[in-house]
Amino acid sequence: MKKLPQIPTRKTQTTWDLTRFFQGDDDPAIEKNRTTVEEKSYAFINQWKNRKDYLRDPAVLRKALDEYEAWKRTCGTDGNAGYYFWLRTQIDRNNPELKAKFNKIEEFSRRLENDIQFFHLRIAKIPKSLHASFLKYRGLRKYQHFLERIFAESAYLLGENEEKILNLKATTSYANWVRMTSDFLAKEEARVLLEDGHTGVKTLSEISSLTSSKSRAVRDTAARAFNAIMARHVDVAEVELNSILAHKKVDDELRKVSRPDLLRHISDDIESEVVDSLIQSVSARFHIPAQYYALKARLLGVKKLRYHERNVDIGKIDRKYSYEASLTLIHRVFHRLDTRFTDILTEFRKNGQFDVRPRKGKGSGAFCIHHLISQPTYILLNHTDKLRDVLTLAHELGHGINNELIRDRQHALNFGTPTSTAEVASTFMEDFVLQEILRGSDDELKLAIMVMKLNDEVSTIFRQVACYTFEQELHQAFREKGYLSKTEIGKIFRRHMVAYMGDSVEQSKGSENWWVYWSHIRYFFYVYSYASGLLISKSLQNSVKKDPGFITGVKEFLSAGLSDSPKNIFRNLGIDIADKTFWDRGLDEVETLLGETTALAGKLGKI
Ligand SMILES: [Zn+2]
Repeated sequence: MKKLPQIPTRKTQTTWDLTRFFQGDDDPAIEKNRTTVEEKSYAFINQWKNRKDYLRDPAVLRKALDEYEAWKRTCGTDGNAGYYFWLRTQIDRNNPELKAKFNKIEEFSRRLENDIQFFHLRIAKIPKSLHASFLKYRGLRKYQHFLERIFAESAYLLGENEEKILNLKATTSYANWVRMTSDFLAKEEARVLLEDGHTGVKTLSEISSLTSSKSRAVRDTAARAFNAIMARHVDVAEVELNSILAHKKVDDELRKVSRPDLLRHISDDIESEVVDSLIQSVSARFHIPAQYYALKARLLGVKKLRYHERNVDIGKIDRKYSYEASLTLIHRVFHRLDTRFTDILTEFRKNGQFDVRPRKGKGSGAFCIHHLISQPTYILLNHTDKLRDVLTLAHELGHGINNELIRDRQHALNFGTPTSTAEVASTFMEDFVLQEILRGSDDELKLAIMVMKLNDEVSTIFRQVACYTFEQELHQAFREKGYLSKTEIGKIFRRHMVAYMGDSVEQSKGSENWWVYWSHIRYFFYVYSYASGLLISKSLQNSVKKDPGFITGVKEFLSAGLSDSPKNIFRNLGIDIADKTFWDRGLDEVETLLGETTALAGKLGKI
């Protein structure tokens, strides 16, 4: 057996080391950095602002893009000072001096952004007749997809004045409507039963999480309160939703867009045929969530789950994982996959790129952040030794690994990930770590974890796809009828919920109004990306399990950044993601987990 390398046991730093940037918030070097950023930015602006030759001659554009890339690499509009203060505010949120400093640099950055954006806007205006010659020019090959992305969006742009009017009017005909409903809901409170047996006044989002309480009495009073709030706002939401559907229709007609979800696909750099293939493949396997809910009903000892009971946990997950133990476990998993992954983990630890523990003034949750390609990635955690925290660490490290692999191979203009694949690396790592945790768990714990996992996956894949098809029908029905009553919206909503939930979830009275608070549908068609990210990840996991050597392909994909569309990147690996079988491989993984969970529940005599 191969001996695993030991990770250093000395206590490593568990807060961010930001001294590589500055020695403190008042370091005079901060001001100096700002001056450098300003000088470099205006050097670029003054060099190109009054020229038109780069919009006609590909060789000149190459020169301009090289300079732009160099500016974006080390400078951008806020340099080290912007990143530094942003990071500082994340771990010291209530410090007014820090806020003031951050606001100042943000203002500075916005001014530069306004002055430099002409470059992007003018490239977007290069006449369509010249696109092909620019894209074919050898010297522009390294910027080919950068240009393709700009050209694809610009094809649907209207004239400068029209765009300006649309922009100004968007607040009143779209944003204010959406904000109105969400503000009304945010103000709502109700008295509900709490876990400790007392009653208390809670906000809508607190009530929403109580609807999944393990105590039946608690979740039922919460659901009643939730339904009452939805019913109070459904009339307003009806008018709001019709208004923004109309707004979208007008926009699409002016832009001559062929389908309501097209602009979303273009801005996410994903082909419509790929999204269609995803939606069809997932919809064709709605028996998976239906069977999952049937299993859950049996585990809870009921014939049918009521609508709000879908997410109730089963069993107890109380095993503890210290931060060090979490790292050791993750290190072991990464090492089996590829040593490049462990190298990145070791570097992150050595260089103080984690901020681990919760403390006063620090923001909640977790994230992995990158800014300029020349600056390091940072990960924020709130590790409290729970199993969820191990998975979160693996998830954020997945993002971190993705950043490092892109950094190795791409230039500054391709440093990033498209929305459609942003969650591939994170869920890939998370799932492999979860499997390791399962290997070391007894059957009771295993069952609880597997149900938790299935719950997440059903919500991320099937529910979001059902939401996407609900949106599609909503726009289509609105365009046919001109107005949709709350009853009609409720009916369409329910039809799509039933489609994936199946017979074991009751469409309880009141649940027909749950679209009222579903903010996603107000931002049009982005929910597919939850499903695409996780399923691409699962499809890759499936391939790696069958052939560990395939990890090279995974790394290839994760290194690509914004250099091409996901479809083309996969094509280079010999995979067609517009083909149903690609998505099926990911769905097979979910179905396998469901099968194993059902078998385990049977073995334990729970069903
Ligand atoms: Zn993530």
